[in-house]
Amino acid sequence: MRTCRAAIAESLHAPLTVVDDLEVADPGPGEVLVRLGASGVCRSDVHSLAGIDGITTPSLLGHEGAGEVAAIGAGVEGVAVGDRVVLAWVAPCGSCRMCARDLPALCEDQESFLQGLMADGTSRFSQGGRTIRHYCSSTFSEWSVVPAACAVPVVTELPWEQLALVGCAVTTGVGAVMNSARVQPGETVAVIGAGGVGMSAIQAARIAGAGRVIAIDANPAKLSLARELGATDAVDASAEDAVAAVLELTGGVDHAFEALGATATIEQAIAMTAPAGRATLIGMAMPDQRPGLPALDVVVGERVVAGSWYGSFVPSRDWPRIIAWLESGDLVLEPMIERITLDDVNRAFDRIRSGEAGRQVIVF
Ligand SMILES: [Zn+2]
Ligand SMILES: [Zn+2]
Repeated sequence: MRTCRAAIAESLHAPLTVVDDLEVADPGPGEVLVRLGASGVCRSDVHSLAGIDGITTPSLLGHEGAGEVAAIGAGVEGVAVGDRVVLAWVAPCGSCRMCARDLPALCEDQESFLQGLMADGTSRFSQGGRTIRHYCSSTFSEWSVVPAACAVPVVTELPWEQLALVGCAVTTGVGAVMNSARVQPGETVAVIGAGGVGMSAIQAARIAGAGRVIAIDANPAKLSLARELGATDAVDASAEDAVAAVLELTGGVDHAFEALGATATIEQAIAMTAPAGRATLIGMAMPDQRPGLPALDVVVGERVVAGSWYGSFVPSRDWPRIIAWLESGDLVLEPMIERITLDDVNRAFDRIRSGEAGRQVIVF
């Protein structure tokens, strides 16, 4: 048992409460205790606090983290005390039909994980005599306990802030391009939304050899950074019609990626594809977002509209590759990272809601 600082979601639709007396129990069988180095603040945390995935409070949010293993429970293999780990926000069972197809993000055995409890139906977190639920990797805390399947060892000296982002935004954006859509050299790409996920997708498209990479956002600062990181063109959606601009530049793109999860931009993504093009939806959409499907354009143009969840990732395959790109400088995260402290977490949520933030990362 140890006590630490953490930001607790006491109830939905309310600010988090930063406490200094979260009690973190020792890891149980098949679990790992991690001392967090850094945690990103992701739009999905904001959505969870708004009730999108039915979390039970009080809960310890945060799902984009990296740190060092401090203890392992009975039966844990493949990860050891002292290992640097990136934390996945799914805990794949390894044996269901989706895991068997190398689709761990779609694992069908996530019941206790989604309920915010460990496999034995209990929590490792408590505070003031009450139980605090887990939420994915629960990274808004100096210490966390996760199922061992979430803690993936990485061999690198990259800073925690970058490794934390590998846990969600980078994998989601890069994986959408590399795994879900499989962008080929010379293909044309448009990315709607140049936040952490979109900026990762833009860079992955460049690495994949895309011929033209169009960044679309309503924030000029994000667009100029997108150009620095590999976008060949930028469209300011606050000043011009994004679909018309993309059609004029390319006649329609082979791949459109939508990283916002909003009805209007999903419809734009589909509308800006060329015949035989593909619209890949990456953004976590609220349930009330129900875009219209232009059925005739889809049929006659043989267009594909597809989802991408956590970049269709396989950690053991994808994370060494992503880390190699970070180390070589092919993939650059530093310009989008805004370092904050745990005490800034509510302001970070507000800045995500207003769309002004880069990728805010809590450094512990
Ligand atoms: Zn996330
Ligand atoms: Zn599974």
